[in-house]
Amino acid sequence: MSESLLEALDTKTQRRLTSTILLTLPMVLLTAFMYVGGGMPHGWRATVPMILTYVFVNVLFFQMLRTGRTDKYRAAFFITMAITFIISFMTNLIEMRGSLVLSAADMAKGETPFCHMVIPMTIIPAALTRTIIFPGRILGGFADVATMFTLWIGATLALGRGFCSWGCFYGGLDDGFSRLRKKPLIKKISERWTYLPYAVLVAIVLLSALTLSPTYCAWLCPYKAVTEFAAITSSTVVVQTILFYALFIGLVIVLPILTKKRTQCGLFCPFGAFQSFSNKINPFEIRINRDVCKDCQVCAQKCPTFSLDRNSIENGRTRLSCMKCGRCVDTCPKGAIAYHVKGTPLTFNSQRARLLFIYPAFLFLVVFGGGMIRDGIYRILLLISTGSMIR
Ligand code: SF4
Ligand code: SF4
Repeated sequence: MSESLLEALDTKTQRRLTSTILLTLPMVLLTAFMYVGGGMPHGWRATVPMILTYVFVNVLFFQMLRTGRTDKYRAAFFITMAITFIISFMTNLIEMRGSLVLSAADMAKGETPFCHMVIPMTIIPAALTRTIIFPGRILGGFADVATMFTLWIGATLALGRGFCSWGCFYGGLDDGFSRLRKKPLIKKISERWTYLPYAVLVAIVLLSALTLSPTYCAWLCPYKAVTEFAAITSSTVVVQTILFYALFIGLVIVLPILTKKRTQCGLFCPFGAFQSFSNKINPFEIRINRDVCKDCQVCAQKCPTFSLDRNSIENGRTRLSCMKCGRCVDTCPKGAIAYHVKGTPLTFNSQRARLLFIYPAFLFLVVFGGGMIRDGIYRILLLISTGSMIR
């Protein structure tokens, strides 16, 4: 290679590095404000998690910008968030209520952390009967209703179903398990299963409105297996507990490992089905440039959420369920798929569209997960130094 070519390459690399640093700067400043805005923490056990989380968040964002790859760095955050969520949720609950067991008294007092999965079941009964069917703290306390609703509305408007890859603190579990094997053992799943989440959604909304109780939480939520649960006081609770564990093991662990797909999110979750409709109203989508696409189907094989098939590829659009994780964009050998701002021509600078998407998306990831990761690290340090995760 000639010297002038090497120099030109050097200048190009330097320019790219400078622009990456400049583009990372807003995130560096925003996250600094978020983490130390309320004052510096006291003691090494609080300071170390803050510094580690801050560095982790910003290194991932920097790498996302430097490499032009989205999914790998998103997943590193998303999976860490899910693991630390469980640690943080359980320990906080034990500190607040004294136990992970949910008693009738806790329900009556509204001592139940609010989670976004309940939203489709609460809106319709509230609109029809003015009854709030899920008891949760309205303001203050751990995971209250007001905070969850505000974050959910913001994320929905900005990301649509991207919420399920950039905001949901459960989604990192099946995402993580789906990455454990190099190749899938089960390669084909019939398309009709992808309609199951919509059927579950209709069923739980109707049943919740009829019984004025959150039926999904009571009978079908796999994440009950790793959060709070009812005391085993009757045969009904035994059946419910067996169902929670069976769904968790089947949909969150075993099937994701065998298929390399997010089976809980893509084949069962009614909240995800509900969230799919918000893809219609938010400004971002994933589009395929048909002039460049070679119909190789790699993107359909790689999509973890069953959101691409032969038809959608031919139409140049994903299915409604797309969670905007970016894996198809990263893996298309022809560079034919890109983040796209609705209303702009397909020729609109795709790097710019990606930037416009990943700033708010990553910020939501930090808002939802930053505190959980920090608390998770804190609990691990507490365990190492005192022998217990509970203060
Ligand atoms: S991976 Fe790229 S080239 Fe292959 S079908 Fe998908 S969009 Fe077309
Ligand atoms: S279509 Fe692409 S961006 Fe959407 S969920 Fe599938 S892999 Fe992710």
